[in-house]
Amino acid sequence: MKMAYKPKKIVESLEYNKQWDEWARQGNWSPVGWRWIEGPKGYRLDKLSTTNYLVIQRPHASLYHHSYGMTSKFFKGLLEKKLYGSKCPKCGSIYLPPRAHCWNAECRLEETEWVELPPRGEVHTFSVMAFSATPFLKTLPFIIAYVRVEGCCTTVPTRLLKVNPWDVYPGLKVNINFVEHPKGDIMDIYCTPAETPDPSKRIMSSETIERLKDDMRKVKEWVVRKFGSEAKPSIEI
Ligand SMILES: [Zn+2]
Repeated sequence: MKMAYKPKKIVESLEYNKQWDEWARQGNWSPVGWRWIEGPKGYRLDKLSTTNYLVIQRPHASLYHHSYGMTSKFFKGLLEKKLYGSKCPKCGSIYLPPRAHCWNAECRLEETEWVELPPRGEVHTFSVMAFSATPFLKTLPFIIAYVRVEGCCTTVPTRLLKVNPWDVYPGLKVNINFVEHPKGDIMDIYCTPAETPDPSKRIMSSETIERLKDDMRKVKEWVVRKFGSEAKPSIEI
């Protein structure tokens, strides 16, 4: 059966390559080939033996039409390089990521309204990533910071670039930037420091910094081994 996706009305769009429909349809899990391979056997890495396995190849693809529902304006804003949060008309709380309804119990799920937000905020907390989803593997290691955008009561996770992890601390002021060609996805935004980090506010001891550098060097080596000249680690080590 052919599944059709029928919007009520297309107001504006960036249409995908229609060949994707066909490619997705062809991905029907039917075997198209096989390999008899030699591989490792055992449950301890230091005591492995060798045996043979049959590996079968089945194509599979999907084209996922995903509606952002009531938070759509936020993602449409990303396409236009604008930042929209949602504000509760009862208590005034501003949410980014947006919430369609206020989460304050006394507001009883009041529907929120859209407000444009300044592309500025501060780091609430952060982490150095040693592994990631496929699209970002080449850029490991990188920093993910939970940023509270000015006026908001929630934080949004973004990549924090152009700074060393040991110079990052809660309260560091950052700018929110848009990638050159936004796709309507949360990864369209990233942040960079809006001020020179204050070394007296560092939260890592020199011992921790050395250990972190060591770990990041290993991650960088792995990325370079895997991607060669395409490797683009986000942190200089
Ligand atoms: Zn409220």
